[in-house]
Amino acid sequence: SELRLLGPAEIRDLAELLDVTPTKKLGQNFVIDANTVRRIVRVAGVQPGDTVVEVGPGLGSLTLGLLEVGATVIAVEIDRRLAAQLPKTVSTLAPDVADALTVIHQDAMTIEELPQSPTRLVANLPYNVSVPVLLHFLEHFDSIRSGVVMVQAEVGFRVAADPGSKVYGAPSVKAAWYGTWRTAGNVSRQVFWPVPNVDSVLVAFERHDEQPGDEALRRRTFELVDAAFQQRRKMLRQALAPVYGDSATASAALEAAGLAPTDRGEQLGIADFVALARVP
Ligand code: SAM
Repeated sequence: SELRLLGPAEIRDLAELLDVTPTKKLGQNFVIDANTVRRIVRVAGVQPGDTVVEVGPGLGSLTLGLLEVGATVIAVEIDRRLAAQLPKTVSTLAPDVADALTVIHQDAMTIEELPQSPTRLVANLPYNVSVPVLLHFLEHFDSIRSGVVMVQAEVGFRVAADPGSKVYGAPSVKAAWYGTWRTAGNVSRQVFWPVPNVDSVLVAFERHDEQPGDEALRRRTFELVDAAFQQRRKMLRQALAPVYGDSATASAALEAAGLAPTDRGEQLGIADFVALARVP
């Protein structure tokens, strides 16, 4: 059944009640538009009974939208005042589904265990840490099979980019280790309070049935990716020289992986980096 979601007046009242001045440092831009919330929940395909992890629930805009469709929600919020208020807000506005919410007051980057295994990640992420938070949750929670996040537009296009694209970079390759990604629509600045000075986009992902390899291979792959894009204009034999000791050794490894030492990182897909990481 439909819940009363948070609009501009509710958000203003809650912020006043808590004496919260949204901070840039924590990326606090709260969604004040119920249509946007319902759109995110729909794009994410959240079903009744799903267990969803939400990073940065803030005043609860998206949380209520997730509860509305019958999800169980684990919400991780770094801001003590917001974390403390959220159960109260939900008990007041949606008492019938209040039991389906667990709030954890913690920095999402330090979370390694959750009370239940989430199958989806749905969040309006704090923009300054969106990529590290995404990678952290995919790394630590195998149970997460899919998700939708709202991020800064440039970041979203980068994460979902394919090799050869101008915005393809280390985040694109790392994201592709875990799954397939697509952008799923723009979001107007006007749906936030305060209005941010960047555009936003929805990004959807589906985790691969199987990851390319174990933790040791992932670390090695990410090390190579970081080196390759540290100096993205350089040929790989030069860019990877610091990892292999010198460019001749880097060339030999690239050739052993079936790659051209004169290629640039932006031309390689995740499978290429993995092949290179497998070279002893
Ligand atoms: N989900 C809410 C919404 O849609 O209105 C708020 C989204 S706001 C863009 C980001 C939220 O993430 C804020 O509530 C902020 O306090 C929280 N946050 C920032 N850094 C965090 C971190 N490292 N761990 C957990 N939450 C964080």
